[in-house]
Amino acid sequence: MDFALSDEQIMFRDSVAAFARKELADGALARAHSHEFPHDVARKMSAAGLLGILLPEEDGGAGGTLMDAVLAIEQIAVYCPRSADVIQEGNFGAIRVLAQFANADQKTRFLKPLLRGEEVIAVAMTEPDAGSATTDLTTTAVPDGKGFRVSGTKVFPNPHADQYLVYVRYGPGVGGIGSVMIRRGAKGFTVAKPSKFMSDNEWAPLYFDNVYVPPEDVLLPAGGFKKQISGFNAERIGNASRSLAYGRYCYNLAREYVMTRKQFGRPLCEFQGLQWKFAEMKIQLDAAQLLLYRAATNADRGFPAADETTIAKLFCNKAGFEICNEAMQCMGGLGYTRETLVEYCFRRSRGWMIAGGSLEMLKNRLAEVIFERRFSQRPPKTAG
Ligand SMILES: Cc1cc2nc3c(=O)[nH]c(=O)nc-3n(C[C@H](O)[C@H](O)[C@H](O)COP(=O)(O)OP(=O)(O)OC[C@H]3O[C@@H](n4cnc5c(N)ncnc54)[C@H](O)[C@@H]3O)c2cc1C
Repeated sequence: MDFALSDEQIMFRDSVAAFARKELADGALARAHSHEFPHDVARKMSAAGLLGILLPEEDGGAGGTLMDAVLAIEQIAVYCPRSADVIQEGNFGAIRVLAQFANADQKTRFLKPLLRGEEVIAVAMTEPDAGSATTDLTTTAVPDGKGFRVSGTKVFPNPHADQYLVYVRYGPGVGGIGSVMIRRGAKGFTVAKPSKFMSDNEWAPLYFDNVYVPPEDVLLPAGGFKKQISGFNAERIGNASRSLAYGRYCYNLAREYVMTRKQFGRPLCEFQGLQWKFAEMKIQLDAAQLLLYRAATNADRGFPAADETTIAKLFCNKAGFEICNEAMQCMGGLGYTRETLVEYCFRRSRGWMIAGGSLEMLKNRLAEVIFERRFSQRPPKTAG
């Protein structure tokens, strides 16, 4: 077993770090506090080959691995935490499901603009009455000629995306679920007034009122749910990577701070109360990284395994958030201000314990792996 990165991985990591230092370090604070998606960053990343890192070259990708994409997100976040979102959108999120299941025509119309950094995609999965219970979704896709009419409401996605990968119900049960692509501006599709998460990121309800989806915009027909969810494991690796990267960002900043800030005539790092916090943070960082790298490395160019992804996301989400929190404590009042990005990382990493599979739902899934049986979360059926 080898815990070291290969020479190619080191070269790739260093080249991403050089890109981030040159292009992203300036303006990191302003970018984090802006509500705009950093489209300029997306175009630069596209030019640098950082969108579609693990997609095949024939699809416009770089032909890399999931581990390469993890290295990229980590290096970008070191210099600009907000820009790590662009790596997420361009490599781990809905784009992965799209790239995996789209036909050639769909790749041209939907995937290519994403890889050029011109458009943003979001997944529209959660509904007011179908959160953790995703399979309770009621957004319907009713046949109309060769296409479908989509009606329903989604909550929590990015309201500024250009295209939405929408989970829909073609028929009853889990087997009736699949997905369609719907563009912003489609007739009958309304993006409501945005609200804000604690992170300051915006979300909005999406209303689909009899929206016509032509047959060529169907991504996965009925029976596609399992495929969509296996693709979602890639999104979870990105989510875990950002949690860890944000924790590392705060750890690095707090480490510098306690080596220079003096109280009682001594640098803060000489107080054992803080030294032990850093020891705990370091252990969490190393452990989280090993679990994340295991899941990413074993996936190579495919989707990561569900159980390794579950463990990595759980651990990274918790470790990342706790490290942001402890780093803030070590930086005193300054850590709690908007003059540094520690409070931003704290707010953002809190959300990832809910998004992309909450910690509780991941533990449910892990229990099924441990006991090798399924535990239905539904109420027991009453006899008769
Ligand atoms: C930052 C952020 C970004 C998001 N982005 C998107 C997006 O782009 N697109 C999208 O479609 N959705 C998005 N979501 C929504 C997200 O997927 C849901 O919030 C998540 O699935 C939980 O659903 P819910 O909020 O309805 O909570 P609920 O399902 O109502 O759960 C509430 C609480 O109960 C717990 N719980 C529920 N069932 C169980 C159970 N069986 N066992 C134990 N505990 C349980 C949950 O873990 C949670 O703690 C986002 C959410 C956040 C926070």
